[in-house]
Amino acid sequence: MLLLLHSCKSVFKVSPYKTYLNKLESTGLSKTKMGKAWVSNGEEAVRNPLKEVTIPFQESIFFRESSPDALGYIIHYSSARKVKFKVKTTAEEPFGVFIDILERKDQLNNLVSIQSADTVLFYEDKQDKTLILRLQPELLVSGRVDLEIIDEPKLGFPVKGASNSSIKSFWGVDRDGGVRRHEGIDIFAKRGTPVIAVEDGVISRVQETNLGGKVVWQRLGLFGQMIYYAHLDSQLVTAGQEVKKGETVGLLGNTGNAKATAPHLHFGIYTGSGAVDPLNYVLIKDTVPPKLRSEIKYLGNEVVINRGASSAVPVNILSVSSEGVSYKNEFQKLEYSEKLILLSKKPSAKIKTAKQLYKSPVETSAPVGLFNPEKSYTVLAKTGTFVYINQEDTKGWVLSD
Ligand SMILES: [Zn+2]
Repeated sequence: MLLLLHSCKSVFKVSPYKTYLNKLESTGLSKTKMGKAWVSNGEEAVRNPLKEVTIPFQESIFFRESSPDALGYIIHYSSARKVKFKVKTTAEEPFGVFIDILERKDQLNNLVSIQSADTVLFYEDKQDKTLILRLQPELLVSGRVDLEIIDEPKLGFPVKGASNSSIKSFWGVDRDGGVRRHEGIDIFAKRGTPVIAVEDGVISRVQETNLGGKVVWQRLGLFGQMIYYAHLDSQLVTAGQEVKKGETVGLLGNTGNAKATAPHLHFGIYTGSGAVDPLNYVLIKDTVPPKLRSEIKYLGNEVVINRGASSAVPVNILSVSSEGVSYKNEFQKLEYSEKLILLSKKPSAKIKTAKQLYKSPVETSAPVGLFNPEKSYTVLAKTGTFVYINQEDTKGWVLSD
């Protein structure tokens, strides 16, 4: 079901995440404000992930000691592909990140759980699945985490030297005037081009039929899929022979009902329940994720964003991907946006009386200091009746006069 490479802890009875949770409980840390936030942010990340990922994908995250954050991603996994996750941390003091992959069905089912500062892992499965990926470091660590998700076809390309652009006829198109449908894809190349095994397996049949002409059938695994190579000019394997991925099974031609067509390989995949579309199993996709959004320069920092006509608020940039930005808003809640509009001109306000500075623009939020009208200050943001100021390196919200 899954293959883990270069991971430090890949086999678990109790997942590293659960082990850490137990540790927080036994030490009483789960009762502290920070501990509680760690637990609830982790739960929230898997229950309400902020975004759906389009592969190839990359994101950079900056975790801060003062804020026990977790990020969740939805990934629509196709059983025709192998997904590669790469996680790398950069920090003054190295720390491990909990990397959990869960399946979203009626309930959440943990499929992978590791803790690592630097890892590459592959995920593949026999069924399509909706996966949730969660990244969360231990409490009280600061540093950057770079995540990359790419995918590869599960099988090799069946025609030597050819690739996507040589596929010219697809699954499901009409054949014989609509009497049957095309149960495979056609890959065009010069007559005599080597047709190669897409995976290790055993040749189960080598025969000649009216439809397929000279064909080769290959079985993958004991009860695995059957691979069908048709219209070959010549067959270069025999039934019962074991072949390795990349070995030539025959030469490309136009035998069978393809004799009036240009030479091509008809390529098919059959499972226990019939033919499946082979395209995604061999399609080569871009493995370089799109560039990170320009907000990457603010990663881990506070910026002030426009929230409408008379509202501008400070947010802390938690992560930046090629698709959007996630940040902690003025109430320290996690939000996601495809585009941030930064405030271009600082707002102005004059406050003449001494008063309380708050963490958020509500009077019930935690006090962070006292505002002194005698000393100089900078106005950074404004929303409703609250003004966000910086005075002697203390930032906070104060009620306007
Ligand atoms: Zn065909």
